[in-house]
Amino acid sequence: MPSKPSSVELADTVSDLLYGVAGWLLLVLGVAASLSGLGGLVQQAGTTTALVPALVLGLGVLFAISGMFVSPRFRRRIDRRHERSRFGQVETVESGTVSSAEDRHERCVRCGSGQNGSGLARRFRREYVVAGVPVWTSSEKHNFYCPRCALNEFPSLSTTDANDSTAHATVETE
Ligand SMILES: [Zn+2]
Repeated sequence: MPSKPSSVELADTVSDLLYGVAGWLLLVLGVAASLSGLGGLVQQAGTTTALVPALVLGLGVLFAISGMFVSPRFRRRIDRRHERSRFGQVETVESGTVSSAEDRHERCVRCGSGQNGSGLARRFRREYVVAGVPVWTSSEKHNFYCPRCALNEFPSLSTTDANDSTAHATVETE
């Protein structure tokens, strides 16, 4: 399994950061515009000039909303949303493989081996969702399993390729 070169990762991080900044700027700008528009609307209610603050308010809300969607953090939350009807506390478990290329020093929760290598990471999350979108994560926990314990613990993970060594070999030569 080839991992992403570090330059790509760096570019990802930088673009994430830029999108984050752009998102926040839009959000702050939008909220500020909405507030001033709202203030003007209250002051000039009933008059014809109320149209201008109303426009400012509309634009501000538009800015704020687009800011939320530009922000990668918010988009990630949208990506892992639940069903639209979900409200309240939800517990989720995500599992993914950890490659040895990642410089992580995790300890296997089963055997306690502290070797730095590939394995299985399971992430437990307890979060509050509104209309399926996670708004607040109340607790988050990582569990790391070394490859040996991962196979013992979750045998279903190995059924796809571990029994078929010839198929595995052809994949590797490509
Ligand atoms: Zn282990």
